[in-house]
Amino acid sequence: MLYTHTLQISYNNCRVLFIKPTGARWRMIRLSQISKSYELVEAVQRVDITVPPGCIYGIIGRSGAGKSTLLRIMSLLETPDSGEVYYAGERVDTLRGRALLERRRKMGMIFQNFNLLGSRTVAGNIAYPLEISGAPGKHIERRVAELVEMVGIADKLKARMRELSGGQKQRVAIARALAANPEVLFCDEATSSLDPQTTRSILALIRDLQQRLKITVVLITHQMEVVREICQEVAVMDAANIVETGSIAAVLDSPKTTAAREMFYVP
Ligand code: ADP
Repeated sequence: MLYTHTLQISYNNCRVLFIKPTGARWRMIRLSQISKSYELVEAVQRVDITVPPGCIYGIIGRSGAGKSTLLRIMSLLETPDSGEVYYAGERVDTLRGRALLERRRKMGMIFQNFNLLGSRTVAGNIAYPLEISGAPGKHIERRVAELVEMVGIADKLKARMRELSGGQKQRVAIARALAANPEVLFCDEATSSLDPQTTRSILALIRDLQQRLKITVVLITHQMEVVREICQEVAVMDAANIVETGSIAAVLDSPKTTAAREMFYVP
C-alpha cells in the first residue's frame, strides 16, 4: 500500500504519528466545552472529547447520562448552547444551509430501530440518500449493487423490509449510511434490539468496514459486551459530564470512577 500522508497530533500528552494510506479520509473530531440544556434539564455540561482519526470510539453511560444528546451534537443534528465542534481542525457547529448539508453528507448514521422506509425495497432504501442528493440513475444502480455486496445482502436486493430479520435490516441501514461514502459512521445503540449472535455479526461487519474504508466510528451504547468487542477508546458519561476517557484496556483494567466501575462490573 502507498503511504502518502502523515499526521502528527498530541493526544493524552503523547505525540502520535498517524500514517494515512492514500485515499483514506480520517478526521480527528474534537468537542470543546459543549453544553446543552432542555428547559430545566442540563443534558450535557462543558464536555471536552477528542476522537482520534480512524478510531472506533465508544461513549458509554447509563440511561439519561446525555449520550444521545452528545451524539446529535457531534453529528450536527443539533446545535449546542455553547462550545465548539471541530472536524480535522475546521469548526463545524456554526455551519448553516448548504455548507451544513455538505458536511452532513460526510457522516452516516445508524439507529437501534433501523429507521428504514417500509414502503421501499432494500435497493430503494439504500438508493434513497443518493436520490436526494441528485445522483444520476446509473451511478445509483452501480453504487447500490456495490453496497449490498459489501454488507452481505446481495441476494436481498428486491426484498421488502417486512421480509428481513433484524440483522438484515441493520445491514440495509449500514449500506444506506455508507451510500454517500462518509468519513464518519455514528451508531446510536445500533445493536440494542438484536440477539447476541446477530450483534456479534453486525459488530464484525462494522469493524471490517471501518478498516477497509478507513472511516472513524463513534458509537453510543449501554451494552458493555459491544464496548469490549469493538471499541478502541471510550468515554464514560455520567450526569451530563464525561467522567473518564481512555483506551478500552486502560478503562477496563483500572476504572478510575464509580460510574465506569458500575458500567463494567455491576451486573
Ligand atoms: P442518554 O442518551 O444517555 O440516555 P439523553 O441525551 O437522551 O441521554 O438525555 C439526557 C437528558 O436530557 C435526559 O434527562 C433527557 O430526559 C433530556 N433530554 C434529551 N433530549 C431531550 C429533549 N429533546 N427534550 C427534553 N429533554 C431532553
